[in-house]
Amino acid sequence: MKCIYCSAPLPQKGLNCSYCNKLNPLNAKLLESAEKLDSKHLCPCCNLNLETLKTSTINLEYCKECDGILIAEEEFETLIAYKVNLRSKLNPHYLRFIQDHPRDNRKKPQFHPCPICQKSMAVVNYKKQSGIIIDICEEHGIWLDGGELRQIIEWYAVGGNKK
Ligand SMILES: [Zn+2]
Ligand SMILES: [Zn+2]
Ligand SMILES: [Zn+2]
Repeated sequence: MKCIYCSAPLPQKGLNCSYCNKLNPLNAKLLESAEKLDSKHLCPCCNLNLETLKTSTINLEYCKECDGILIAEEEFETLIAYKVNLRSKLNPHYLRFIQDHPRDNRKKPQFHPCPICQKSMAVVNYKKQSGIIIDICEEHGIWLDGGELRQIIEWYAVGGNKK
């Protein structure tokens, strides 16, 4: 995967380009048409205020510092289904990158608090076999770290759920 600013290769883990030092907001790139509102909730990773992003069908909390997202489970499924259908628009290089670089299951040892209720979120390997580690609050939905929304879509697009 390449940095969207300077095209240098991104490190295998993380979205901070080591050449230009910018964070690559891969989750945000998938939500371009959203309206932005201030949110009173804090990012569980950065402790900075989130933004509420609204599109016609979904409503989510977004951190512009780390590209993290909190989204209700039902809306998440809708978003994934919609984006996977746009598969032809995905960059084949990204797809190959995902296939060649299986995610590390052991990252993220610490638990994050849910931005809304502050309860510790459960840490789960998405669909048990994706290797994409997500955080879940039973009540408020799924927390995705920077780039994880894109990783999940790509995982579906390469048929990861059918293996
Ligand atoms: Zn860069
Ligand atoms: Zn953050
Ligand atoms: Zn919660």
